[in-house]
Amino acid sequence: MQKITDSPIDFAEHIIEDVKNSKEEGVLKCVQCGMCTSTCPAAQHSDYNPRDIIERVLDGDISILEDDSIWNCFYCYTCHSVCPVGNSVCEVNQILKQFAIENEMGYDKLYEYMGFADSYFTAAIGAIPEIFFKDIKRDVPGWWEFRLHLDEIRDELDLDPPLMPSKEVIDEVSKILTITGFKDKIEKIRATQG
Ligand code: SF4
Ligand code: SF4
Repeated sequence: MQKITDSPIDFAEHIIEDVKNSKEEGVLKCVQCGMCTSTCPAAQHSDYNPRDIIERVLDGDISILEDDSIWNCFYCYTCHSVCPVGNSVCEVNQILKQFAIENEMGYDKLYEYMGFADSYFTAAIGAIPEIFFKDIKRDVPGWWEFRLHLDEIRDELDLDPPLMPSKEVIDEVSKILTITGFKDKIEKIRATQG
């Protein structure tokens, strides 16, 4: 399990060293200008605050891993594109969530996404889990009708049937996910929420 030390700078350096982080050390260059917060869609609809995330990382405030709000970031990369010093709160959030998961936190946040994981095993693709259908129907007018009539629409447009992974590919993907520990992690998350 990855360890996080008590030293503030070590916390930031753990972030910088992570393979997901752009190699520009932007975390340490943050000037707390707030551009990320003012443009972040998640911040407009919740108490999530990207500028505050970076401040807490620089303060070595490891309690941030237990903060519900980090799960409100949905990786749109808006903050990444506007930061004047090349920082990416988006990437920092991905790393924070990974730290949280490695320390067995946030499983309740992941639970509703288990349908995505299942689709990798059964179809080798990331299909939208049924649990989200109700919300998408409400938020995206016409989406359900489009989904129901997709084959007819493809026919009308003279498109070939969608390319789906073969059984051989599905078996291979399942094997990789199992060998790399993904399957065990999914089962562990399910067990804690069951
Ligand atoms: S936009 Fe960049 S420099 Fe400004 S507060 Fe956000 S992370 Fe820091
Ligand atoms: S990636 Fe996350 S933090 Fe950045 S703007 Fe989008 S929702 Fe906000």
